Amino acid sequence: MKWMHRVRHNIFSVSVERNDLRKALDEWIYEGNMYDIEIAEEVCELCDHSNIRYQFEIINIHNKNKLLIGSECINKFKISVIDKTGNKLSNEEAKKKVNQDRNKLVTDAKIRGVINSLVQLSKVDENFEIDSFIKYFKENGAFTPKQLFTLIWRLGKYKVEFKKSNFKLSLKRSNNKQQLFEMEDWKVKTIWECLSSSQKEIYNSKKRVY
Ligand SMILES: [Zn+2]
Repeated sequence: MKWMHRVRHNIFSVSVERNDLRKALDEWIYEGNMYDIEIAEEVCELCDHSNIRYQFEIINIHNKNKLLIGSECINKFKISVIDKTGNKLSNEEAKKKVNQDRNKLVTDAKIRGVINSLVQLSKVDENFEIDSFIKYFKENGAFTPKQLFTLIWRLGKYKVEFKKSNFKLSLKRSNNKQQLFEMEDWKVKTIWECLSSSQKEIYNSKKRVY
């Protein structure tokens, strides 16, 4: 249990309690401060696990020391999770909050990635009117089929770096569905990776009817 030695060493050096691991861990709380450092190269300051991208800040209630740790360690070591009103959450609720917080970091990073690609594209493509795309994306978190095709095609043409799976399709409005069904096959193929599995099913079942 070499890693357990590391945990003990790491936590005792910044806690008031220096002998009992559980007591030392109970001095720490997570209040919702979390950071995405964009690349997975940090080390968990509790267990020394490497390749941490999403850092969760825990604070010692006695000496205000701080540690940046991986989200798994909050659950694994049952670090107290405190909600906005200052209440300690139950184990179940704590797990849920840590998960939600982590998902938020992941989603925010995807949104930033999409907007960065659009900004890059607008710098090299004179005919690209970025404002309407960004406006729609901010309102819907996704694009219409036509917008998506335009984007994927232009991003490729101008060799702008982008992650296709971060670009999502919105089919909430019926005219968006219509747009997709009427789109030429090769265009659908271009944006296929952007469709969720249920959207792919909707498309496939509709196409079989024709
Ligand atoms: Zn850890």
